[in-house]
Amino acid sequence: MKGTELYGRIFSPTLSLAFFTIDQTFAKDEKTNVLCVYLKYMGSVINVRGVSKTYDTQVNAIRDISFDVNEGEVISILGESGSGKSTLLRLIAGLEDADKGSILIDDQIIKGPADNLVPGYDFVSLVFQNFQLQRFKTVRDNIASEIYFLSAEERTERVDQLLELCRLVDKSENFPHELSGGQQQRVAIAIALAKDPEVVLMDEPFSSLDSRLKAIIRQEMIDILREERVTVIMVSHDHADALSVADRIMVMRKGEMVQVATPEELYHFPKSEYAADFLGPINYLSLNGSSGAIGIRPEKLKIVKSGKYQGIVEKTTFQGMHYHTYIQSDISNNSILIYSEENRKKGSKVEFEVI
Ligand code: ADP
Ligand code: MG
Repeated sequence: MKGTELYGRIFSPTLSLAFFTIDQTFAKDEKTNVLCVYLKYMGSVINVRGVSKTYDTQVNAIRDISFDVNEGEVISILGESGSGKSTLLRLIAGLEDADKGSILIDDQIIKGPADNLVPGYDFVSLVFQNFQLQRFKTVRDNIASEIYFLSAEERTERVDQLLELCRLVDKSENFPHELSGGQQQRVAIAIALAKDPEVVLMDEPFSSLDSRLKAIIRQEMIDILREERVTVIMVSHDHADALSVADRIMVMRKGEMVQVATPEELYHFPKSEYAADFLGPINYLSLNGSSGAIGIRPEKLKIVKSGKYQGIVEKTTFQGMHYHTYIQSDISNNSILIYSEENRKKGSKVEFEVI
C-alpha cells in the first residue's frame, strides 16, 4: 500500500528528495541498519490541453478544454446533462480518442483506443454510476478479480487491506444484493483502488443513493480517497456533491469549460449566471435603482421590521431548518427567495435588506 512501501534507500537525507515532492518518513531498516525513506505518493498531475471531441453524430461533445489537476487534488466537474462531463472523463481514462489536443498524466501522454491496443491505463481507475459489481461473486471475490494477476498470497493481502480501508471486513463473504447502497458504493471504491491507481475518475457516483445517505457516503468515500492520496476527478450534476468535497470545481456547459475555481470562489463570485445558478439558489436584484441585476444568494438577504426594500409574500415553504419565503418585489422580475425563521402568510407585506 502507498505510504508503507519502500521507494528509495538513501545514505544522505539531502540526496534525492528533490525528486519527490512527497510526504516522507525516515526510518532505519532494522536488518541492514541503513537509513530508508518511506515515501507517500500524492497522486498524479493531470494536464488537459486544448482537447476537443466530436462524435460521429456531429455532436461537439467537448470543445477546446484545458485545465490542470494537481497531485492529490479532488476536482469536481459540474454541468447539466449532455454538457460533455462523461466524455471528458472517458478521454482522461484513455477510453475515447480526442480529435484535438492532448492529455498528460505525470507527463505521460494518454492515448485513446485508436493508438492503444488495450484501452485504458492501470494507474487510472474509472468508477461508474451503477457500480458494476459482479452479482454472483462475494465482496472479496469482486475485489480479488481486479487483481487476478497477483499471486494468491499477495492478492489476499491486498484484498484484506482494501476491506479494512473501506470498512467492509464483516461483509467480505456477502453478495452485492445483500449490501446497502452505501456498502455497495464502498465495494466499488475498493475495486477502483485495487490496482493502486494514481488517479480515480468517478462518473456521478452518488446518483443512485438517497439524499440522507448520500451526504454520509460522499464524505466517507472522499476520506478514503484522500487517505490513499490519489488524484480524484468526480463528475456530478448536483452542486452539493461538489461544494462539500472538492478542492476545486469545474463548471461545464455545452462541451465548454465555463469556470474552474474553489467552491467558495465559485459560490460567491461566479463568472456567469449559469455557474451561479448551478451552485445553488440565487436572486437577481436591481439594487439602488440600477438597471442591471446583481446576483445575491438568499442567505445574504434578511427580512426585517423596517428595511430598504419592500415586497409581498407570494409563497412560504417549510424546510426544517427554516422557511423558504418567496417575495414579489419591484427590484426583481422573479420572486425573491429569502430564508426566514417565521412562517409568513401569503399576501403579507414584508421589508428586507441585504446583509
Ligand atoms: P454528460 O455526461 O455531461 O451528460 P456526455 O459526455 O455523455 O455528457 O455527452 C455529451 C454529448 O455527446 C451529448 O450531446 C451526447 O448526446 C453526446 N454523446 C455522448 N456519447 C456519445 C456517443 N457514444 N455517440 C454519440 N454521441 C454521444
Ligand atoms: Mg454523463
